[in-house]
Amino acid sequence: MELIDGNQIAADIVAELKAQVSGLPGRKPCIALVRVGEDPASVSYVKKKEKTAAEIGIESRIILPPATITQAELEKLIDDLNADPAVDGILVQSPLPKHLDEAAAFRRLAAHKDVDGFHTLNIGKVAQEDDTGFVACTPAGIMELLARSGTDLKGKHVVVLGRSLIVGKPVALLALQKKAGANGTVTICHSGTKDVASLTRQADVLIAAIGRAEFVTADMVKPGAVVIDVGINRVPDPSKKTGYRLTGDVHFPTVAPLTSKVTPVPGGVGPMTVAMLMKNTLKAFRQNHA
Ligand code: NAP
Repeated sequence: MELIDGNQIAADIVAELKAQVSGLPGRKPCIALVRVGEDPASVSYVKKKEKTAAEIGIESRIILPPATITQAELEKLIDDLNADPAVDGILVQSPLPKHLDEAAAFRRLAAHKDVDGFHTLNIGKVAQEDDTGFVACTPAGIMELLARSGTDLKGKHVVVLGRSLIVGKPVALLALQKKAGANGTVTICHSGTKDVASLTRQADVLIAAIGRAEFVTADMVKPGAVVIDVGINRVPDPSKKTGYRLTGDVHFPTVAPLTSKVTPVPGGVGPMTVAMLMKNTLKAFRQNHA
């Protein structure tokens, strides 16, 4: 069993991006990070994005509207960033407060600045295999992990657990694309799927993204499979200072020994998301300056 080290692969990507950005003439790429309110997870995610941008040499503009912002005010703010030629990429941190329409906010972004890849046009471009779009960061990160760990999906049965727009659906579409590294045969499971285990047992590559702690057990995995665990779940654990431990959607202690390659949680898919956001920001900069 080989552990796929997401921390190391993300660090390699950050170093590559830093070298590319340092070679750019003129102004540096700029990402606007919009965080509405003070959701603690969002505070830490945006901090991490700001820190990684600084490390690469990407400028970040942090915009912190209060949780009371109206939809119209948020959309005006997005319109202004869309129109600002000094801003290459825009990220509106999810989740937004409940009174706001997140999907409408994402649609409001100029598609060519939508570095998070949630705009309808960018999701459509993944389906059309049009590489000018932006792929959502977590599925893009999963594909990068597979590629850099030497896993070619061609001819493989890829089983994806979960069909969210953020992970399951886009990663399934990417695995299905008729291009080098992909070209897999894809099955998607969801809460309406009968006998999930009979399908996961057929997987050469299993991608678990359902948000249920340690759902995938050893009896659900074919020996020698590659297992990518996207889940980030908090399980109560009084022995920890925080009162909880982080675990994936895979029961790592029993599944990992069966696999040929596996991602840990934390330290697998998680670190890739920010690295891919930065990669998309550099792509936006280049496309907007072409
Ligand atoms: P989500 O929007 O809640 O979607 C979960 C999906 O799993 C749904 O499609 C759901 O089916 C399916 N599902 C739930 N229970 C199931 C079951 N028992 N059997 C089969 N399918 C089931 O979650 P998400 O946003 O995709 O996130 C999934 C996990 O990945 C979470 O733990 C999240 O924290 C993590 N995540 C990590 C990153 C990262 O590493 N950077 C990024 C995003 C998400 P239905 O469609 O039928 O409801």
